[in-house]
Amino acid sequence: MSKFSQTKAYTWLKDKWQHFKHAMYPEAYVCHCCGTEIGDDDREDSLCPKCRERLPYRHEQTCPICGCYTHTLSPCKRCQIAMPPYKQALAPFDYTGAIRRMIINYKDNGSPWLAPYIAKYLITYAKAMELTADYLVYVPSSDKAIKTRGFEHNKKVATLICTALDMPLTEPLHRVYQKKDQSNLTYEERYQNVQGSFILREDYDRSLLIGKKILLIDDVMTTGATVTTCAQILKNNGAQEIIILTLARS
Ligand SMILES: [Zn+2]
Ligand SMILES: [Zn+2]
Repeated sequence: MSKFSQTKAYTWLKDKWQHFKHAMYPEAYVCHCCGTEIGDDDREDSLCPKCRERLPYRHEQTCPICGCYTHTLSPCKRCQIAMPPYKQALAPFDYTGAIRRMIINYKDNGSPWLAPYIAKYLITYAKAMELTADYLVYVPSSDKAIKTRGFEHNKKVATLICTALDMPLTEPLHRVYQKKDQSNLTYEERYQNVQGSFILREDYDRSLLIGKKILLIDDVMTTGATVTTCAQILKNNGAQEIIILTLARS
């Protein structure tokens, strides 16, 4: 083999190896937000320094109950009119930038390997806020969504959080169906759409919930219709207190 074709073969092989590595272990080699290659120091959270600097942490002036942005530190108008069935809704990030991309990549672009990175943000936040509960519950997906996605995204994250926080997981909720796509609906429309989409699992031992403090997790809270519906079911079945924890708020 001539020297020229040896170099060509080497380059070809190197390229193939890079592609293989990225396909097999994307978390170890690329920023989960912008896709640029990352060095050894950045592998822990799989973010390049630029994207890490721009993480959309929420600022603190929020309603102490539902967590929406407010100008005062007292409950917002909506919470004053109708008290939600949960005690507090918390989230470390706004649903934008690196976090938005991370959630979309995790849920819709077939990247289940992002679960530990999402869980890590929630674990760090839960520890900082000193959140405690008797059980962790996640907002489930419908059977159809699980089949399409290939995995139950909230369950995967919830399992990791339970291990890290030494908190038992319980699965009382079942998602029946989703009547319409939620994205362009108002709060009231969403609420009506979501009500009836969740039920208590038929085989669930409801005595487990009685008097218990529950940490309910989901990926994004938009109007709050989904978590409110889930919290109401838990409350109706005896749960004493529910804290909502989502990765982001939109
Ligand atoms: Zn990046
Ligand atoms: Zn509020």
